[in-house]
Amino acid sequence: MDGFETTNATLVDLHTHTTASDGSLTPDELVAKAASLGIRVLGITDHDTTDGVAAALAAATRWQITVVPGVEISTLAGREELHLLGYFIDPENADLQEALARSRRARRERAKKMVDRLGKLGLPVAWERVLALAGDASSIGRPHVASALLEAGYVGSWDEAFDLWIGRGCPAYVERYKLSPEEAIELVLRSGGLPVLAHPFTYSPHGEKRSSLDLQHWLPRLRRAGLAGIEVYYPNYPRRAIRRLLDWAVRFRLLPTGGSDFHGDGAHNGLGSVVVPWAVWQGLLQRHL
Ligand code: AMP
Ligand code: ZN
Ligand code: FE
Ligand code: FE
Repeated sequence: MDGFETTNATLVDLHTHTTASDGSLTPDELVAKAASLGIRVLGITDHDTTDGVAAALAAATRWQITVVPGVEISTLAGREELHLLGYFIDPENADLQEALARSRRARRERAKKMVDRLGKLGLPVAWERVLALAGDASSIGRPHVASALLEAGYVGSWDEAFDLWIGRGCPAYVERYKLSPEEAIELVLRSGGLPVLAHPFTYSPHGEKRSSLDLQHWLPRLRRAGLAGIEVYYPNYPRRAIRRLLDWAVRFRLLPTGGSDFHGDGAHNGLGSVVVPWAVWQGLLQRHL
């Protein structure tokens, strides 16, 4: 696209979730919504699954927008959680699918353990309810457990469920098997994709910093492993955070990317709520080609 954008509406959103993981819109609904908002390029990045990609690509043809097939892989970086986005991965790649399936089995076992733990803590929820709330999702996540807690009336919101019970370090939190960041990068590369570090910082909806990856430590390692990009445009990131991330991107010759991390209309981040420059998309596409 040439010329200056005159509105705040974004044309690009490279980070979204569907009902294949913990999003609340089906791939069809998500693509239709994106098109109606004027989004031209939509990345589908479900947690540890690509099951939403085929339907999203089909819907994209009908709506005449571009869907970028993607995935968001949860990895364990030392003691911290690091999310790795993979763009333009081949969903048919056997190694990738085998690794994702292993992670999804671990997700299921872990959610079950968390339900057991919650029962012992005096918050009994039925495993069947968690499964029912997960619906068609092939990838079960803590948000499904949070929904069960909310439904039972133990908490007033997802946030409360995470802050008090199921967030990292909380009483009902259980760790699970995760790939290392280097393994995830390797899988993405071997399936023809571009590995991108997701949301290096976490800010609360109120703008307080919640966590930050040690970039000084991790970026050189990830870059050596083949990291191609870093997510820079992300909900609630203050200007100074974006500036810092752009500096890191330049220093390590990483593509800056961005997106809303949209999970559904009830969640904090609206679809297309982050303006991602068109040049970001052009850079990503060029690198892919
Ligand atoms: P899991 O993939 O099972 O580790 O769950 C992580 C997901 O839970 C994230 O992708 C978010 O969608 C959601 N999540 C994490 N922290 C919070 C929070 N504090 N409030 C609401 N949702 C959260
Ligand atoms: Zn999620
Ligand atoms: Fe994430
Ligand atoms: Fe995400």
